[in-house]
Amino acid sequence: MLEKVCFICGAGHSGSTLLGLVLGSHTDCFYAGEARKSQFVGNPQKALRKRTCKLCGEDCPVWTGFNDGIEDRTAGLYQRIARKAQRGVVIDSTKNVDWLRDRMADLATDGIPVYLLYLQRDGRAVINSRLRKYSEKSPAELIEQWQSQVERTNELYNAFSGSKMSLHYEDFARNPEATTRNLTEFLGLDFQPAMMRFDEFEHHPIGGNNGTQFQVARAQQLQVVSIRERQKQYYQSHPRGIKLDLRWLRELQPEHLDLFERMAGHTNQPFAWRETE
Ligand SMILES: [Zn+2]
Repeated sequence: MLEKVCFICGAGHSGSTLLGLVLGSHTDCFYAGEARKSQFVGNPQKALRKRTCKLCGEDCPVWTGFNDGIEDRTAGLYQRIARKAQRGVVIDSTKNVDWLRDRMADLATDGIPVYLLYLQRDGRAVINSRLRKYSEKSPAELIEQWQSQVERTNELYNAFSGSKMSLHYEDFARNPEATTRNLTEFLGLDFQPAMMRFDEFEHHPIGGNNGTQFQVARAQQLQVVSIRERQKQYYQSHPRGIKLDLRWLRELQPEHLDLFERMAGHTNQPFAWRETE
């Protein structure tokens, strides 16, 4: 039943949850969230939010009991997901590059086509999100982490010889429909206009961005996703649908902008958002 797997690689906080939910709204697709976290399903030692569906909690038709009786949790993983979700195209936005390499090797062995999407977002926006979420961490440490994640992802992407495509979060958010058309074509799927109303569909992501999932929960009156107070203010007033998030332009402090420029300005060049474009 599994036909293909699409990986959305990149740095965290680049919009992959949003993109995954849009693609996962296609009738042939299932957005798994960060499938690496499926290893934790059924492990009570892990935090609940890391081992259950973000929208159903502990009572999910896809993830509840997913690992029961399974010895090797990564063997045939995407085949199992496809079977549970009853969809042929599985989308995984795990960012860990070692995980992606290993799963790509498994899928090559199984003869399953892999599509690699590289979602890129201005690093300053990513740092701003991460500073908001991890206020106890030092900005330098966060910038370093972003940079090293980008470098590792670049290596993975450049070395990948299969079907691949890179896109900017900012372009996707500004032109969601045109971008989604391109992406469905890339994946060999028909474009379905209803995909743009991703919050109306059933989704079962594990891991991923709470704020974006909150949009789905809000539209469907689900109670599961909890978000922090500042996020809540932003997402409660967020219109339905897709809107370019440029909060970093007014939130990121000048000294953090300077630090970012010094440490990672070069790496960010191909990612940098320009208002005039
Ligand atoms: Zn679920």
